[in-house]
Amino acid sequence: GGLIVSFGEMLIDFVPTVSGVSLAEAPGFLKAPGGAPANVAIAVARLGGAASFVGKLGDDEFGHMLAGILKENGVSADGVNFDKGARTALAFVTLRADGEREFMFYRNPSADMLLTPDELNLDLIRSAKVFHYGSISLIVEPCRSAHMKAMEAAKAAGALLSYDPNLRLPLWPSAEEAKKQILSIWKTADLIKVSDVELEFLTGSDKIDDESAMSLWHDNLKLLLVTLGEKGCRYYTKNFRGGVDGYHVKAVDTTGAGDSFVGALLCKIVDDHSIIEDEARLKEVLKYACACGAITTTKKGAIPALPSHSEVLTVLNGAQ
Ligand code: ATP
Repeated sequence: GGLIVSFGEMLIDFVPTVSGVSLAEAPGFLKAPGGAPANVAIAVARLGGAASFVGKLGDDEFGHMLAGILKENGVSADGVNFDKGARTALAFVTLRADGEREFMFYRNPSADMLLTPDELNLDLIRSAKVFHYGSISLIVEPCRSAHMKAMEAAKAAGALLSYDPNLRLPLWPSAEEAKKQILSIWKTADLIKVSDVELEFLTGSDKIDDESAMSLWHDNLKLLLVTLGEKGCRYYTKNFRGGVDGYHVKAVDTTGAGDSFVGALLCKIVDDHSIIEDEARLKEVLKYACACGAITTTKKGAIPALPSHSEVLTVLNGAQ
């Protein structure tokens, strides 16, 4: 199949060994590799697609461990650079007893933020049929310039551009800046996926409905998706709109559900972009993507929980 290149950050989440504690109360932490763009690349590979991750890691044990995880999962690391001076990014993440996620990032600066435009593997980026990215790589230079150059090179070479903003407010200098920068690259994307929370943030409306979703529409957009957690997703194209229900599962950790959803979608459309124009086929693909998202919530961590194609089929057949 055609190559899906995912651009951005890969890092290690440190998650408490016990649930429902604050970061300060946690008795210990487990390493959980992540970073949304890296998760998407691994999600694609696990489903049988061709994926490559582009980004920068520290030239340290954690950086090489992460590159190893990409390769073990069948993701090409030909676009990965290692920084001699800066460390691989770390994030301490906990789900507190009140259900709120608490993040503490170690990025001062971390290697991912130091990717320069000159370091990009442009041959790799130009060979992408789909180029996927988020917004964390827009926060600081020189990574921001690298992001812009990679995006433009992929677009010029004819790739479909896929954007999942993946809002992480604590990483931005302010909410206004986050909104402004996230929207600054809005109109370059062919496909955009936002969560319900991001829809509210970007529109400034507390309503999650078709009207607020459509306020995010732009003329060159081919597909807008709003994911709704256990309630599935809504889809919008130039010619039709609708929804796909979620699957009932016993969720233990929702980390990576959105990335799994995106990976599945990209895997299905990479070789046939016309699916986006055919509502019946698009709906089938979105059911598949929702099943992937649901499965990902049933196991702890993002990467260990990403399903294979046969696991998804089992869920889809069981639901019929
Ligand atoms: P992330 O936690 O990775 O940031 P997100 O907020 O981008 O995720 P969600 O809306 O949480 O995205 O999830 C993406 C998809 O995964 C949903 O559209 C749905 O199909 C599936 N999903 C997520 N949570 C659940 C759940 N609790 N039960 C069933 N399916 C779920």
